[in-house]
Amino acid sequence: MAEETLFSKIIRKEIPADILYQDELVTAFRDINPRAPSHILIIPNRLIATVNDVTDEDELALGRLFTVAKKIAKQEGIAADGYRLIVNCNAHGGQEVYHIHMHLVGGRPLGPLLMS
Ligand code: 5GP
Repeated sequence: MAEETLFSKIIRKEIPADILYQDELVTAFRDINPRAPSHILIIPNRLIATVNDVTDEDELALGRLFTVAKKIAKQEGIAADGYRLIVNCNAHGGQEVYHIHMHLVGGRPLGPLLMS
């Protein structure tokens, strides 16, 4: 069983976050350290530590990350210009919080996918 992170506390509203969307499967909130004008994290409510821990039962929640990303991109006014969805996994992927999250970033040209 994976250890809870601060993201579980955000889902339960035990610590503050700028939550843009929540339903029975996923929660979306603004990243505390935005790297672009729009930087939102969309996460499954169930704790899944990394992409390596995904199971077939997670397909509905993980699919919803995309439908919520699409809705929020429209709300943020970045859908037409475009944006990037990123999911980091483990150390080489640059994952810092071990509760799967999709980064939705946009609001400016983002440049090449890999900077180094
Ligand atoms: P990772 O590197 O794991 O893919 O991304 C973790 C993200 O979580 C980072 O972009 C970081 O800024 C964000 N983050 C870390 N702690 C908090 C927090 O307490 N609140 C919010 N809203 N975002 C956080």
